[in-house]
Amino acid sequence: MTQRKRQHQPSKQTRQRNYKSYLGSPRWKEKRDIIMKKSGGKCRVCGAPATEVHHVNYQRRGKERLTDLTALCRECHQLYHAKLEEKKKREASKPRKNTRKYWRK
Ligand SMILES: [Zn+2]
Ligand SMILES: [Zn+2]
Repeated sequence: MTQRKRQHQPSKQTRQRNYKSYLGSPRWKEKRDIIMKKSGGKCRVCGAPATEVHHVNYQRRGKERLTDLTALCRECHQLYHAKLEEKKKREASKPRKNTRKYWRK
């Protein structure tokens, strides 16, 4: 049996891997530094020392503008994503009607 190579777009896993290696790149670190400096090293939400940079949106992932990023502390960052997940779940359990815009964004 021969295994045919799939000609599809990169899988979700590949994309995630690419993204991860991007987060380890000097290019990203540079951006991160700028965001940290801009925020004065403080979490935008609670003012604690910021340790992480959050993507406000992923539309320009890899070539973000500085407005796409924000500095957060670990706690707020996790909280933010937990809320986001909750929201997604809630949206997903709703009837399909208005979810399109949300998912396609
Ligand atoms: Zn915070
Ligand atoms: Zn984030």
